[in-house]
Amino acid sequence: MTGCQHDLTGARRVRPGGTPTRTAGDASDDERRQWLAVGMTDWSRLRDIYGSAAGVPALLDEAASVSDWDAPVWQELWSRLCHQGTVAPASYEALPTLARIAGTRGDVAVDPALFLASAIIASTDGPLHRAEVRRLHATHIDGLRPVAEHKLGLVRARVDVLYALGVVAALDGSVWQRGLTGLADEEIELDCRSCGEHLYLEPADGRLVMTTDADLVDADGSVHPADPAQLGPAETRLVGLCRAHDHAEVETELLQLFGRTRCPSCGAELTLAD
Ligand SMILES: [Zn+2]
Repeated sequence: MTGCQHDLTGARRVRPGGTPTRTAGDASDDERRQWLAVGMTDWSRLRDIYGSAAGVPALLDEAASVSDWDAPVWQELWSRLCHQGTVAPASYEALPTLARIAGTRGDVAVDPALFLASAIIASTDGPLHRAEVRRLHATHIDGLRPVAEHKLGLVRARVDVLYALGVVAALDGSVWQRGLTGLADEEIELDCRSCGEHLYLEPADGRLVMTTDADLVDADGSVHPADPAQLGPAETRLVGLCRAHDHAEVETELLQLFGRTRCPSCGAELTLAD
């Protein structure tokens, strides 16, 4: 967090300049309000990661008809609105449009609009506190939840399932968003709270193992999986979604992620939520 609070509502408003892809007459009152809000924002007075956000509306407009993650327009939006987890005032202003794009194409299994929206919501490195972002955008978050859950029925590959669960966790405000993404990327690292040793969680023979050296995995550091009957609400929800969408192998991984292990350096008990 930079700690710098920006009053997004204080940005100067101008009359709508763009034309929505559908006419306002086709829209619900909520949709109409969203379009008006986007159209009335003076983006030239907002900042994205690199400077003026004047170009962001055109990018969002183009991105609405592009679902390819690697398309230049989505690469540009990621770098301007959520660069390595850092967000800017324009990122929040883009949330209604990103939510609308994601909500109108539920059949896209891996939708960059949904991922970018959830990454902005989950960011801990931006001008607003995450709780404030969640309060301001509660309607968009609520609208995206069923979209995110629906995607779990569209994906089969392990990594896609983990990312889809990470989106659900981000929208829920769960502590597991980073862990799920880290599991997908095989990059979970933490510092032992007891001795400060930097630790790596590595996959080995279908299990997760805690080690001080990512290249040296010792079975003694194996994670003890959590008992499904003893899980908290956030963990129960994620496991339940795996069961509902027949992702048994990922469920096994989740129970390890939610489990306990010991620091291989000092022996202190650790949970991966730490
Ligand atoms: Zn330790």
